[in-house]
Amino acid sequence: MGQIVMLGTGDPLNDERAQTSLAVPLEGGDTLLIDTTSGTTLLAQLGAASLPLAGIRHLVVTHRHFDHAGGLAPLLTALTAVPEARLTVYAPRDTLQVLHALLALTIPGVEDWLGARLDWRELAMGAPVGMGSAVVTPVAVDHGIECVGLRLALGDADVVFSADTRPWPALVAHARDADLLIHEAYGLEDQAAAAHAFGHSTAADAGAVAREAGAGRLLLTHVRASRFADPAALAAEAEAAFGRPVEVARDLGVVDG
Ligand SMILES: [Zn+2]
Ligand SMILES: [Zn+2]
Repeated sequence: MGQIVMLGTGDPLNDERAQTSLAVPLEGGDTLLIDTTSGTTLLAQLGAASLPLAGIRHLVVTHRHFDHAGGLAPLLTALTAVPEARLTVYAPRDTLQVLHALLALTIPGVEDWLGARLDWRELAMGAPVGMGSAVVTPVAVDHGIECVGLRLALGDADVVFSADTRPWPALVAHARDADLLIHEAYGLEDQAAAAHAFGHSTAADAGAVAREAGAGRLLLTHVRASRFADPAALAAEAEAAFGRPVEVARDLGVVDG
């Protein structure tokens, strides 16, 4: 059964949690990484989870926001000191371009320093990509800018990650019968107007997506600080919409696929 390590589970300004990153241990000991938190937090979280830099073979960047892509420059810079490092970065087309620009702006030369150890690959919507023992299929989601949700086939378990999105019918279809849906939740239903204006979902939206998709389990992530959104209240609202127990992810928590 596949496992996911939730390296970061907070929204961009959550000062209690790291920002979004998920690590998927692959057969053979390598790691698939999804998003990079922000700053050097990723390096600390990888260390805390005992995931060596040398084993990170695949990185999917769902979109350009700093709470997802901000750790890319520190990660690549750290990899230059790891001779056995070999990384492929995957993102949709426009996001790939801005990631190159981000590196050129903040750490010019890093792509040359890594040379053949660094590769880039464009994600096409709906097209499955083999990443070690995982198969990853992207779907465009509704975040106001280019952003992809992901379906991960991990052996006998299918896990879907929403990335950042408003409630979105194409994601419901993409998550059909998934064993686990990991969905973002900006806040409670009384924050729905703000959530949707910022390109996000409420906990109840996430519960409805899980119910409509027929997902087996729902895990909420990308949550605001507890003074803005109480995790227990988020779980309760999502449970009411989903009809099954719901958990809120925690940093460094390990979930089964
Ligand atoms: Zn975002
Ligand atoms: Zn975000």
